[in-house]
Amino acid sequence: MVDGTIQHDVTEAEAADLLSELVARDSQNPPGRERACAEFIVETLEEWGLDAQLVEEPYEDRPQVVAETGAGSPESGDLVLNGHIDVVPPGDREQWSVDPFEGGVDGNRVYGRGASDMKSGVAAGMFALRAAHEHGVDGRVTLTCAIGEETAEPGTKTLLDNVGGDFGIVLEPTELVVDTVGKGLAWYEVELRGESSHASSPDLGLNVLDGLFSFNDELTAYREELAEREHPLVGSSLCTPTMLEAGTKENVIPDSATLTFDRRFLPEENIKEIDKEIDDLVEPLRERGFEISVTRTRTYEAAEINADREIATVVRQHSHDIAGVDTAPHGKSASTDQRNFVNDAGIPAIIWGPGTSAQSHTVDEWARTDLLVDAVEVLCRTIEELCVERR
Ligand SMILES: [Zn+2]
Repeated sequence: MVDGTIQHDVTEAEAADLLSELVARDSQNPPGRERACAEFIVETLEEWGLDAQLVEEPYEDRPQVVAETGAGSPESGDLVLNGHIDVVPPGDREQWSVDPFEGGVDGNRVYGRGASDMKSGVAAGMFALRAAHEHGVDGRVTLTCAIGEETAEPGTKTLLDNVGGDFGIVLEPTELVVDTVGKGLAWYEVELRGESSHASSPDLGLNVLDGLFSFNDELTAYREELAEREHPLVGSSLCTPTMLEAGTKENVIPDSATLTFDRRFLPEENIKEIDKEIDDLVEPLRERGFEISVTRTRTYEAAEINADREIATVVRQHSHDIAGVDTAPHGKSASTDQRNFVNDAGIPAIIWGPGTSAQSHTVDEWARTDLLVDAVEVLCRTIEELCVERR
């Protein structure tokens, strides 16, 4: 049995250093350039005396990381900390006032792509694992660093095939607010085929744009119906048209179009039923003579645990005590790898971390080092409560 409380000695300066090093390992995805970041994490953890491994699954060239500590007593809890190491591309670098992969520090902020989403979460997980290791835990603490989160690849899902646990924390940016539910996301590409003709004789063709404009009433009715499906923590279900490609020339009746929908859904909605809804939605266009095909191009399932599960109440209480964070239940309007814990591995997990959600994917992204240090303290107390036997 382990005595004393788990302590850490992380300062804001050390937090800034580690986060800056993580940001400097350009891990853009696409194309899936996570290797340098994964190797850096393993080397750092090994320097700290931890046992850490690169996992070359599901892709050999894009390794993930697993590191753990603890005695593994079945009487005590096993906590799995999870972060993704991939970051979205920086976009137009002209718009950045800093180098997105330098990891510049200014006051209590570290700048760069991925600072908030979610390398500050990864850094907090690394420090907490170090503190748990130095102190010792009766149960187990495992840190999993995944690839491919930004592109819905089976990173975390694959890691959880070989890592078990009683509780999970997905270290996405929430400014230490506990989210127990994440909305789902599906993208649909609707392809329309009509018939082309010269624009001087439009009646000889079948104009896909006329078809889409006439379809507006049906789409509006569907969106109004979705607005009534509401979840108390994540709001309503959504179907938003986000892209349209059509037409070849000014004087040619367009015979093909591709319309894209971004469909946000609630945990109680089922993806197969949503597929059917989208198919039913475009049925009137078929009846008007268009050939239609619908493809779901990306899916992130929604996930939810009860807001009163132990992992949620424990982290909520410590976040309140350490950083004065609101203790009301919250949810995230985006999907995260929480779904792999809850839906695939059956491990109750929350979404919680030190980054700032509004900074995700932005130009001049930054994260706060004071929150990172607070996160380490909250994690230490959480590990103490869940993974150390009561005396
Ligand atoms: Zn993220």
